Amino acid sequence: MNRPSWHEYFGEITKVVATRTTCDRGIKKGCIIVKDNRILATGYAGSPPGMDHCDKVGHLMIKGHCLRTIHAERNALNFAAKYGVSIDGATAYITDSPCYHCSKDLVATGIKTVIILSNEYRTNGQWQIEERNKLFYKCNMKYYWYDGNKLVNLLPGFIP
Ligand SMILES: [Zn+2]
Ligand SMILES: [Zn+2]
Repeated sequence: MNRPSWHEYFGEITKVVATRTTCDRGIKKGCIIVKDNRILATGYAGSPPGMDHCDKVGHLMIKGHCLRTIHAERNALNFAAKYGVSIDGATAYITDSPCYHCSKDLVATGIKTVIILSNEYRTNGQWQIEERNKLFYKCNMKYYWYDGNKLVNLLPGFIP
């Protein structure tokens, strides 16, 4: 029987979660939090519950950014907070690299491993990439890209 690996399995689920994104500024983004091969929380880029969605009412543009939605990573962390799920020591699968702000929250909530599924998209700006990598390195975050086949260490010999 041809079963997917855990990374394949969680990677595909993360991509399905991302399809629920409600703001099309940037790419559709999804995040799932996993521990002991079980999914503890999911999140996609969307408005807070009860608020209008960009795909219905348009974007909330401030200084060139749409501020209406909560990032996928934060929505997954928010879900865990709301329902009292402990995510200490867990792994976050994310469709793309996390921005600096979400990266700080991933560290602060006890996530120990971040696995991104695409290493292509970079609207974060160079400073965010540098600050995120510095943060992850200093806080001993394991940070990988799953290329569909193997894990690629995104902080090899990182010099802070
Ligand atoms: Zn928007
Ligand atoms: Zn973010």
